[in-house]
Amino acid sequence: MAVPLLEKAMRRGLAVVKIHSHPGGLAEFSPVDDASDGELFESLRSWTGDLPFGSMVMLPDGKLFGRVSSANGFRQLSRIAVTGDRIRFFGLGSTDVREQELRTSQAFGPGTVSLLRQLKIGIVGCSGTGSWVCELLGRHGVGGLVLVDPDFVELKNLNRILNATYQDALDGTLKVNVQKRAIEAMGFGTLVSTFAKDLMDRSVVEALADCDIVFGCMDSHDGRDLLNRIAVFYNIPYFDVGVSLHADGLGGVSHVVGRVNYLQPDGSSLLSRKHISAELVDAQSCLRRNPHEYEARRGEGYVANAHVESPAVAGVNCQLASLAVNDCLARLHGFRSDDGHDEICMCIVNTYMQTIRHEEPCLRLAKRAGRGDCAPLLDVPQLGERCVA
Ligand SMILES: [Zn+2]
Repeated sequence: MAVPLLEKAMRRGLAVVKIHSHPGGLAEFSPVDDASDGELFESLRSWTGDLPFGSMVMLPDGKLFGRVSSANGFRQLSRIAVTGDRIRFFGLGSTDVREQELRTSQAFGPGTVSLLRQLKIGIVGCSGTGSWVCELLGRHGVGGLVLVDPDFVELKNLNRILNATYQDALDGTLKVNVQKRAIEAMGFGTLVSTFAKDLMDRSVVEALADCDIVFGCMDSHDGRDLLNRIAVFYNIPYFDVGVSLHADGLGGVSHVVGRVNYLQPDGSSLLSRKHISAELVDAQSCLRRNPHEYEARRGEGYVANAHVESPAVAGVNCQLASLAVNDCLARLHGFRSDDGHDEICMCIVNTYMQTIRHEEPCLRLAKRAGRGDCAPLLDVPQLGERCVA
């Protein structure tokens, strides 16, 4: 029965994971499991060579534990992440609640405080919305943050980047360094790594692939598309924060809509939800890769205008960043009665908020969910092969 599946896994170089349940609640592998895993994996190894195999057990309350098997025997999985409407982690230990976490613990409990301290979260874009996401995740005591933004602070950013100073604009301080400085000064011991680089860089993709959750706080369509792709390949829950503000420049404001999109690896994508356009993804990635080619194609009318600079204000950014972080917390903790939406849309002009469900999986990306390392990285030729350390 499993032969066609195993053949497919072999062709694609995929590892195989066996899952069964313990309806009686036994929270460890039994001697029967040891014998049957040993037998199964030995015969699989004769088919597939050196690939690692996994074995996982589900308990009646939905908890999971597992191990990997290699030629050297079994090794316990230190962490199992399940990305659905809820985001669940299994296998983590618990940490003490520190004084700076007391009030958060009173709200969400010591379990969530401990979970947050053991998570590593990536934030791509440390400007308008990203700086507020940094602040909020830092104050919630998230254990590790990976910050990505290639840009420097300029005077024109000071209206909306939290913790950026006039002196930062004069000095041309990197946006990631402004946030790192602020988060480290909070006193939660958060480990902050910074990448003042474009997202289309191997080291950035590898750092984000290692995160438990990612937040996208960018305007650019090609950046959001690439982050969506990283999240799909590496099975990472992705929160995308988008703000659209239309004004006439003279004081007339017609439209202030913000959206928080929650993207599950095997579900719909920003592109299939039509929140980014293929034309702009194409134009912006062309401009990033090869500005001369972009100008030539633009001159001939073959490519869309890649330059989009929209109005932006701190209050709106702060509200949307907060909405995104609270959506993430709800999915981690489970305090909401219903998590069955994947977009929250709010309009500040017409004062409404609504939740939306996108049922249809993305035809382009969903089939790549959990694909992990491959060559070229993410199936994107410019990223070349991933070097194994
Ligand atoms: Zn068993």
